Amino acid sequence: MNSTQTSIDTWPVWRGQLSTFKVTIVFLLHILVLFAPLTYRRLEFSLSILTIYVTLQCGLVLGYHRLLTHRCFATYTWLKRALSLVGTLAMQDGPISWVAIHRTHHRIAEQPFDPHSPKNGFLWAHLFWIFFEHPRLSQSERILIARDLHGDSFIRFCEERFILLNTAATAGVFLIGFGIGGLSRAFSFLVWIVAVRTVCLWHVTFLVNSVGHTMGYRNFDTPDDSHNVWILGVLALGDGWHNNHHAFPACAAHGRRWFEIDFTYLFILILERCGLAWNVQHAALIRSSHSQRYRPKEAGSAG
Ligand SMILES: [Zn+2]
Ligand SMILES: [Zn+2]
Repeated sequence: MNSTQTSIDTWPVWRGQLSTFKVTIVFLLHILVLFAPLTYRRLEFSLSILTIYVTLQCGLVLGYHRLLTHRCFATYTWLKRALSLVGTLAMQDGPISWVAIHRTHHRIAEQPFDPHSPKNGFLWAHLFWIFFEHPRLSQSERILIARDLHGDSFIRFCEERFILLNTAATAGVFLIGFGIGGLSRAFSFLVWIVAVRTVCLWHVTFLVNSVGHTMGYRNFDTPDDSHNVWILGVLALGDGWHNNHHAFPACAAHGRRWFEIDFTYLFILILERCGLAWNVQHAALIRSSHSQRYRPKEAGSAG
């Protein structure tokens, strides 16, 4: 990455209207995070870690990404809906929008209308892309791309009431804190369980888009710049093995080599063993149907 890549000059010319609402929310939550050291308490810290894990694991990585976007496994409707609701509370996007944007990224990664390619600058790929409307991803276009989800009334509800649901959850956190210790605890709950949680989830997800397409190593010669990054493999619960994922998007397992640990795949295996997941797209199945899709970088590296 050279210095010009962080310049606004590299941002795509197609970027649409700036959302001042999104800019305001992102700015406010980052400001609230600055109060974390001043409002630290063991309970708030513990709840923050717990809710970060649950939202990331169940909502974003397992729910939004592997189930809704790539259909790596099938499950009961009630579980799919529960995971969709948890994903909605990550304050990233409603399920239909998130899935449509991510499917578009896979379809045209690193090409001109990729929503968040680092070819348009590292900071664009990491954060700034979320502030602008994508001209090819209007609401009707998103519904078209994720029409398999649009038929589910509850997923549609999460999409259409995304702001209301997050506002209600935020108010709930504030009221629980208030009930425990008045205004001061209400504020510390807001800082740790809303702001710290959300900002951590944003940046872990965004690092996959920015760092995961910039640095690391590659197992497969995919036509994009996706890379595997070990620290993201751990932090993003398996989604940081991003080159493997771009090579085989529908595969439930993102780790391919012995050291590429994938906590979410382990989670899916547990669900499968408990009868809560089926039609799991294991690596062996994918390999046999797409064995020649992308050439491994070196013999035996595909794991
Ligand atoms: Zn990618
Ligand atoms: Zn994906």
